Amino acid sequence: MQTTTLPPGRSRPGLVLVADADPTVWALAGDALRQDGHDVIVAATAEEAWQLFDARVPDIVLLDNATPVLDGHDACVRLRSTAVGARIPILILTGSDDAEAIGRAYDAGATDFQTKPLNGQVLRARVRYMLRAKRDADDLRQLADYDGLTGLPNRATFRRRLEHALARSQRNGTSVAVIFFDLDGFKEINDTLGHGFGDQILRLTGERLIQTLRASDRPLLERSDAAAPWAGRFGGDEFSVTLPDLATPEAASAIAERVRGIFAQPFHLEGQELFVTASLGLSVSPLDGVDADTLLKHADAAMYAAKAVGRNNLSTYRPSMGLRASERLSLAGELRRAVGRSEDLLVHFQPKVDIVTGDVVGAEALLRWQHPSRGLLGPLEFLELAEEIGLGPALGDWVFHAALSESAHWRGQDGRPIPVAVNLANSQFRSPSLLERVLQAIATAGLETSQVEVEITETVALRHQLSDTGLLAGFKEHGIRTAIDDFGTGQSALASLRRLRVDALKIDRSFVRDLVEDPRDRAIASCIVEMSHFLGMTVIAEGVETPGQLGVLRAMGCDQAQGFLFSRAVSAAAFARLLEDATIGQILSGSPSSRSSTTQAAPSRVVPGGIPHYDRHRRL
Ligand code: C2E
Ligand code: CA
Ligand code: CA
Repeated sequence: MQTTTLPPGRSRPGLVLVADADPTVWALAGDALRQDGHDVIVAATAEEAWQLFDARVPDIVLLDNATPVLDGHDACVRLRSTAVGARIPILILTGSDDAEAIGRAYDAGATDFQTKPLNGQVLRARVRYMLRAKRDADDLRQLADYDGLTGLPNRATFRRRLEHALARSQRNGTSVAVIFFDLDGFKEINDTLGHGFGDQILRLTGERLIQTLRASDRPLLERSDAAAPWAGRFGGDEFSVTLPDLATPEAASAIAERVRGIFAQPFHLEGQELFVTASLGLSVSPLDGVDADTLLKHADAAMYAAKAVGRNNLSTYRPSMGLRASERLSLAGELRRAVGRSEDLLVHFQPKVDIVTGDVVGAEALLRWQHPSRGLLGPLEFLELAEEIGLGPALGDWVFHAALSESAHWRGQDGRPIPVAVNLANSQFRSPSLLERVLQAIATAGLETSQVEVEITETVALRHQLSDTGLLAGFKEHGIRTAIDDFGTGQSALASLRRLRVDALKIDRSFVRDLVEDPRDRAIASCIVEMSHFLGMTVIAEGVETPGQLGVLRAMGCDQAQGFLFSRAVSAAAFARLLEDATIGQILSGSPSSRSSTTQAAPSRVVPGGIPHYDRHRRL
């Protein structure tokens, strides 16, 4: 069941690591100890010993003290400095009964010593004794470290192991995922069917968890015993799972879904059949945190979000979830002040580039909040909150005024003004005076309506279009261009596009990301381009990061591109400089003009120096 530390009460034989540069010692110790049924693994150098120890976690270590290849003293100190190594018996093998060497071994943390040449019988007895003493200590620890009902590690133990797994993953460049879940309506089960019944459900949940984790697809994980996932019970009906050593963060979702699947079958208890569901939250290092407490806190926040959506859900952590109720409250207050006084808020601009000419043909305004203590925050971290507390419309108005006034004097390569696109939130649509206020902002900035675009997500656009507010048509009548944002992520059918009278369509970056490798994404993107052109719309690809992606998009006839390949969102001043700069055109002329099958790293981005960038985009 447990793999990274010794399960309590392990049957008599154990796993013995013999670290000695001398192969005759391996042979002798191996022959002797195998008679007692022990498994014996051997290492010739300190590094090998360390790797084996890390990967296999032996029950006892025999460590040579004498050769220059393997400094037993240092190895001993190093083992003892780890959480797991601190509890494993270490038998030092010394070449002589030199009192000083023995003293040094004890200082380094040795449990016992034996002099060479080894006597097989003495060695067997000593190892037997040391393992028994360890087992007794483990039994005691079992009571303190494990949950009595399910036998799973308790919170403290789980956390300790998670720390260990995170340290490993940092060395290996892998990811660690944490799943946190509790049972939906467990209190009702307890109240109506009794605590005894509730306990049985928890015990069975633990059993199913262990089975599922054991059966996890190993190909998803990098093979090594320490890479096996494990579960813990945090008390009540709260469970947690660690998935260590994931080759990619994406591997976590598949396993998390399988964990959710343990509730697909009913529980059979006392002649009753009971369906139970759970709400699960997922966080993955290093993106969602690099230490145990942060990852657990974020998985917990994600679980609450999952519950809020409805039961029986799995949700992945997003930054806006990480806030505790009290934090939310203070952030809400700060946001209210920031909007009220127009302080600390700013708009950054990201260029839209003509795929054929390489000219900057537009800008998208993206909201930022320079928070006094949290640094530069992106909209994903506070927009949801703003909408919740009713600040959406005021914030929206502010963005319009700021974006339009800052961009008023920009001119493109051909001297024409650069239209600026502003994102609209759902709440802004509910206001009947939206169009009026937008026109007002345009007039104040002294702009033409043709210099302004609005971006609306597919879902919001369809919802409002179908309820016939006629808003999109209103924008159009006044010459304000409209674009559908994040196209392809909504639930709508392609056919519904026909009803939306918009000027442009933005292909969501989730389709752009794998454009070069994935023929299905290529087919979807190409279809979107063709269909939009047929309906007379301009197509803009979002999130273009590599010349390879750009090449594919150009080959399919996409009109404009936006993405880190050209520039991140930058301040208004930096954007003005970017317009004078010829670099963007160069990126374009350097890109492959036909379909390319290689992904190249993005060239250095067009980022004028010294501008702080909000850079916390989540993977999509
Ligand atoms: P969006 O409208 O899809 O905006 C594009 C987002 O993708 C921006 O994130 C941008 O910085 C990021 N991005 C651009 N190029 C790349 C790329 O090559 N790779 C990757 N990975 N990301 C890229 P940002 O600024 O965090 O904005 C997130 C979302 O917040 C926006 O998504 C938009 O829906 C919303 N938003 C931003 N500003 C406003 C605003 O003023 N009002 C409203 N209502 N929503 C806004
Ligand atoms: Ca947008
Ligand atoms: Ca978008």
